Amino acid sequence: MIQQTLVIVKPDGLKKSLTGNILTRLSETKLRIVAAKVVHVSPELAEKHYIHLKDKPFFQEVVKYICGELHGAEYRRVLAMVYRGDDAIVKVRKLAGTTNPEEAEATSIRGQYGRLTTKGLFENVLHCSSDEKEAEREIKLWFEPQEIAEDIFPVESIETKVQRTVWK
Ligand code: ADP
Repeated sequence: MIQQTLVIVKPDGLKKSLTGNILTRLSETKLRIVAAKVVHVSPELAEKHYIHLKDKPFFQEVVKYICGELHGAEYRRVLAMVYRGDDAIVKVRKLAGTTNPEEAEATSIRGQYGRLTTKGLFENVLHCSSDEKEAEREIKLWFEPQEIAEDIFPVESIETKVQRTVWK
């Protein structure tokens, strides 16, 4: 089944210069990248992204983590991508490894590169969607339709009047 999944190289992945390594590992899946951008994550976006964790004791820490507040000003960003292809969600999850990097298979991306911080946060270098419903919700949260190179979800046209920044 053709699926799409949101993949995010988190600030620790960027800070450790792991982007190339992670993309190389992801290419093992033979999936295709249909969208990619560097994002400065706002607390609003982070809180929406991690809404399912809002009652967890580590919620504020995980929001700070994806906003880049734990890794210095130069790493206050993430690389967000959409991968698409046959069984994309399970393929990427398997390659990524389990959430806790200490328990992840040693050869998985999180097993290879993740760590448990002294504060007990799982710094696991990448995010990937957990199921189809979450993938759709997350992709629509992070990307506009025109930023995605294939038609993955239905769209509609609406007229809006918004102020936006353009090149001078
Ligand atoms: P996943 O990222 O594998 O889909 P979750 O959505 O449950 O997992 O959690 C989001 C992120 O929050 C994880 O990737 C990890 O960085 C952090 N996290 C999750 N559970 C814990 C935990 N028990 N302790 C510390 N950090 C956690």
